[in-house]
Amino acid sequence: MPRIGVFVCWCGSNIGAVLDCPGLAAAAARIPNVVHAVDYKYMCSEPGQNMIVEAVREHRLDRVVVASCSPRLHEETFRKTLERAGLNPFVLEMANLREHCAWVHSKEPGRAQVKAEDLIRRAVAKVALAGPLSVSTLPVTRRCLVIGGGIAGMQVALDVADAGHEVILVEREPSLGGNMTRLDKTFPTLDCSACISTPKMVAVASHPKIKLYTYAEVSAVSGYIGNFTVTIRQKARRVDHAKCTGCGTCWEKCPTKVPSEYDLGMGTRKAIYIPFPQAVPNKPVIDAANCRQFTRGRCGVCAKVCPVGAIDYEEKESLVTEEVGSIVVATGYDLFRWQEAYGEYGYGKYPDVITGLQFERLVNAAGPTGGKILRPSDGKEPKTVVFVKCVGSRDAAKGKEYCSRICCMYTAKHAHQVLEKVPGAQVYIFYMDVRTAGKGYEEFYQRTQAEGATYVRGRVSKIYRMGDKLVVRGADTLLGRPVEVEADMVVLATAVVPAAGYREVSHLTGAASDKDGFFQEAHPKLRPVETHTGGVFLAGACQGPKDIPDTVAQAGGAAAKVIGLLNREELAANPMLSAVNETLCTGCLLCMPVCPYKAIEPKTITERLPGQPPRERTVAAVNPGLCQGCGACNVACRAGAIEVRGFTNEQLLAEVDALCL
Ligand SMILES: Cc1cc2nc3c(=O)[nH]c(=O)nc-3n(C[C@H](O)[C@H](O)[C@H](O)COP(=O)(O)OP(=O)(O)OC[C@H]3O[C@@H](n4cnc5c(N)ncnc54)[C@H](O)[C@@H]3O)c2cc1C
Ligand code: SF4
Ligand code: SF4
Repeated sequence: MPRIGVFVCWCGSNIGAVLDCPGLAAAAARIPNVVHAVDYKYMCSEPGQNMIVEAVREHRLDRVVVASCSPRLHEETFRKTLERAGLNPFVLEMANLREHCAWVHSKEPGRAQVKAEDLIRRAVAKVALAGPLSVSTLPVTRRCLVIGGGIAGMQVALDVADAGHEVILVEREPSLGGNMTRLDKTFPTLDCSACISTPKMVAVASHPKIKLYTYAEVSAVSGYIGNFTVTIRQKARRVDHAKCTGCGTCWEKCPTKVPSEYDLGMGTRKAIYIPFPQAVPNKPVIDAANCRQFTRGRCGVCAKVCPVGAIDYEEKESLVTEEVGSIVVATGYDLFRWQEAYGEYGYGKYPDVITGLQFERLVNAAGPTGGKILRPSDGKEPKTVVFVKCVGSRDAAKGKEYCSRICCMYTAKHAHQVLEKVPGAQVYIFYMDVRTAGKGYEEFYQRTQAEGATYVRGRVSKIYRMGDKLVVRGADTLLGRPVEVEADMVVLATAVVPAAGYREVSHLTGAASDKDGFFQEAHPKLRPVETHTGGVFLAGACQGPKDIPDTVAQAGGAAAKVIGLLNREELAANPMLSAVNETLCTGCLLCMPVCPYKAIEPKTITERLPGQPPRERTVAAVNPGLCQGCGACNVACRAGAIEVRGFTNEQLLAEVDALCL
C-alpha cells in the first residue's frame, strides 16, 4: 500500500487568509493511503522543505502531495526536496490551492474550502498510482544561433562568444545594427547612438568565435535542446564579398536611385548599395528588383567599374546548414502602420506628418538632410512642431491595447532636439499620460518642459491641411476645451509592434508568441528570457517594447542562460514524455500531425507472433529530445497506445473518480 504524505501550505495569507489550512490537513489525514498530513506557513521555505524531508524519513513516506501554489512555480523546488529525502523526484503531486482556489474564490471561503479538499483528494488519488521515473541524458552541441543582429542579438553574440562558445548570427538585412543604428542621440543621456552601436558591430564582425550571416534568413530548424540543425538561406548579394574591397565605386556610379529603406523613405539609395555609411559588412548588395541589369536587361555599369571584378549578376541564393545547441530569438520590432488606421491624421497623404523613427533620420548628421530639421514637403525649417503620442498604442479600437513604453521618452528627446536646433521653435506635445519610469527619465522630461516644450493633455481628433500649414485639432482635457495648433510638421509616436515575419520565426523555433505577436516568455517574472521550447531564448524588443538599457540587460540574461546550457556536456531529459506501447499501436500515425513539436516519427519494427512468420510493421516513435509532454498525441490515438509518463490513463481516471464519485 502506498504511504502518502500531504503538506498543506498557507502561502502566507495568499492561501491562509481564505482557506482553513489546519482543517485541510485534518481532512487530508482521513483520505485512504495518507499516513501523514500537516500544514505550514511557507512550505517552500527552508524549514518547510526540511519538514518534508524529516516526515519522509519518520513516517516512511513513499509519495508526497504538496498543496500550495501552481506547479509552474515550485514543482522543481519540491522535486529537489524529495530527492534530498531519498525519494524519486517524480512521486510528487501538487494541488494548486492558490491560483485554482484561494485567489479565484476569495469571496466565497466556505465553497473554496470544499473545493480545496477536492483538489487534495484528486492529487492523492493520482500520486497513489505514480511510479518512479528515470531521467535520461542528451548530448549538447556547444554552439549558439542568434536570429537578429540588432543591439540585442549583437550583445548576446558577444557575451556568448566571449565565454568561449561559437555563435552563428543571422541578420536578414545587408548590415548588422537594427533600429538602434537609425537613432541619432539616445535618451536620457543624449549620447550618440552610432558611437555606441557601431563599435559593437565591428566587434561582432571581427570576433573569432562569431560566424556572421547578413542578408540571410533561417529557413528551417529541426532537432531539440542541445541538438538543433538549422538551415540558413543566404540571399543572393550578386557581389562576391570575398573579392569586394568596399571601395564604393559601384554605388557612386550606379544610375538607379530608389527610396532608402534605412532612411524610411526620407532619402534615397542606389540599386547597388550599403544601407548606411558605417554598415557592417561594408560591402554592397544588388537589389535586383530595381537594378536595370535585371529590369531592363542592360546597364552593367557596376560590373564595368568594379576594379576587382566582384560583381556577379548570376549569383543565386544558397542554403547552408549549421548545428547548434541553443537558439536566441532577437528579431526586434517594427512600427505600427498608422496610415492604415488613422484616417483622421490623413492616411499618410501629408508628407509633413512623419513618424518618430523618420524624425531620427532627419535629425541625424548622417541622415538625408545632414542633421538639419527640414520638413519633407518643401525643405523649409519647421518653426512649429507638434508631437502626438500614443498613435496606435493604448488604443484598443484602432491600434494596440498596450503601452509602447519608449514613446514618452523619445518624444521628450525629439522635443529637446527641435528646441535646441531650431531657433525660436514652438513645440507642442499631445499626450494621454507621461510615463518616465527609468533612471534619469523623469529628470529628462522635466528638463524638456523647462526648455519650453508645451505639453497638452488630450487626444488629437484631426489633422488637416490649411495652406502650407497642418492644423492639429484636439482637446485639452485639463482645461476642458478644444485646441487647434497650426503646425509646420507633425511627428507621430507610433506603436511598437513585433518585427515582420515573427510568425515564421515562431513556427520555425517553436517559441510561442502572445496575442500581440511578441514572443512569449516562459514565466513573466521568474523565466523572462526563456521560452516553453527547451533551448530557445529571447532577447530584446521581440519579447515586448523596450528601450536600449532594458534590451541590453535582457540580452545579457539570455546570454547567461545560453552559456549555462552550453557549458554542460550533457543534459537531463524530462522523463514526463509520451511513450508508445508498440503492441497496441496500429501504425495509423494520426498522432504525427497533431504533435506541435514534430516529435513523432514512423518506425519499422519486426513483430513475432506465436505460430506466425516474423513480419514488419510501422509504429509511431517519440523523439525524447523534441517531445514536451503536452499530451496532444494521447488524445488523437484511437488505440490508446500513447501515454505521457506521469499522466497515465489510470492516473487521470483515478483523479476524475476522486472528484466525481
Ligand atoms: C523613434 C524611436 C526612438 C528611440 N530612441 C531611443 C533612445 O533614445 N534610447 C533608448 O534607450 N531606446 C530608444 N529606442 C528604442 C530602441 O530602438 C530599441 O530599444 C532597440 O532598438 C531594440 O533593439 P533590438 O535588437 O531588440 O531590436 P531591433 O533594433 O529591431 O533589431 C532587430 C534586428 O533583427 C533583425 N531581424 C528581424 N527579423 C529577422 C529575421 N526573421 N531573421 C533575421 N533577422 C531578423 C532586424 O533586421 C534587426 O536588425 C527608440 C525607438 C524608436 C522607435
Ligand atoms: S547594373 Fe544595377 S546595380 Fe549595377 S550599376 Fe546598373 S543599375 Fe546599378
Ligand atoms: S566597386 Fe567592386 S570592390 Fe568596390 S564596393 Fe563595388 S563591388 Fe566592392
